Amino acid sequence: VPPAPHDASGERVPIRQLAGLAPVARPARRWTPRRVVATPAALDQPHGRRIVERLATLGIEVERLRSNRLAGVRGDTERETYARAKSTLAIVVSPPSRRKLQPIAPSADWRFDLAEGCPAHCQYCYLAGSLSGPPVTRVYADLDEILAGLAGYAGQGTVTSRNPRRAGEGTTFEASCYTDPLALEHLTGSWRRAVEHFAGWDAPVQLRWTTKYADVDSFVGLPHAGHTRVRFSVNCRPVSERMEGGTARVPDRLAALRRLALDGYPVGLTIAPIMPLPDWRAHYGELLGAVAAAVDGVPDLDLTAELITHRFTPGSKEVLLGWYPRTKLEMDETLRSRRHGRFGAVKYVYPRDTMTELRSWFERELADRLPACRILYWT
Ligand code: SF4
Repeated sequence: VPPAPHDASGERVPIRQLAGLAPVARPARRWTPRRVVATPAALDQPHGRRIVERLATLGIEVERLRSNRLAGVRGDTERETYARAKSTLAIVVSPPSRRKLQPIAPSADWRFDLAEGCPAHCQYCYLAGSLSGPPVTRVYADLDEILAGLAGYAGQGTVTSRNPRRAGEGTTFEASCYTDPLALEHLTGSWRRAVEHFAGWDAPVQLRWTTKYADVDSFVGLPHAGHTRVRFSVNCRPVSERMEGGTARVPDRLAALRRLALDGYPVGLTIAPIMPLPDWRAHYGELLGAVAAAVDGVPDLDLTAELITHRFTPGSKEVLLGWYPRTKLEMDETLRSRRHGRFGAVKYVYPRDTMTELRSWFERELADRLPACRILYWT
């Protein structure tokens, strides 16, 4: 009889986790940018210099720019520009407009940014059409000022924290609107500092982010005071395996979720983007089964789910087809319902009947398979 397998925390792994989408801890997949640049303004900031030192210990060279403008990332074609930008990391100071926080319902009361851009290659990327210019990953050197600026928002809840399902969370701050924190943490150390900053607050507050990566080594054992909820963005196998290039495998994300949950963090699932593919019930059923196995036996589990269906805008479709011309992602306006989002922008969502069917299936299956899980919203 082979010895019982153990996960990264030393716990015995139930045998049913070892098949299919089972969460098996493996060495984290880490991004190494091909080119790293830093602006003079970024190097004036203590955290900018900390990032440069961290990169030096990783053997990554930093090019010091003469001006605070980024140049030299455009190629001759859109594909070339995309490839260059996606392999570039820029250490910069955040734009002043980012200091005035914006509400970000339904995810959180407020959003703040420690970076913009992401090294992964999801064919449905949420950033497409939202950010202008080549998709360079920018990390912010003025971290200390950004974190200090959040204090004025504690206790300033919005419609989000008045949601009874969010009772006890306090004022919530979303830190992954324009990036994927765990894709960059090994290069910056920014989100670890944010966890420590939130842990030090007496007021009821919550730091939140969602990720498609699994590198949680530097967060396990950190004093977090339960003030950070890490959500893992997951999807069924046909989506995660075919459309999420450069991310961690779903089993690794679930292993990471388990490690954080065992370390007392509130955790969550961002199931997105939900797509009614052929056999979607079986595929999403397999995913929920893997999640149930991942949280099996976690004491005092605090688990939430955010359910987000696929949608696109004319702008995001155009950008995505430029980035991924051979994508199989369905973005057919004739199969969708046209809606108006904030500020009147057009978006295409699934028709009402499809939405109803998906929603009732997810609500039923989550209640059945993960009774401890609170659904925060469906959209
Ligand atoms: Fe875009 Fe998120 Fe994928 Fe990064 S992980 S490419 S931000 S969808």
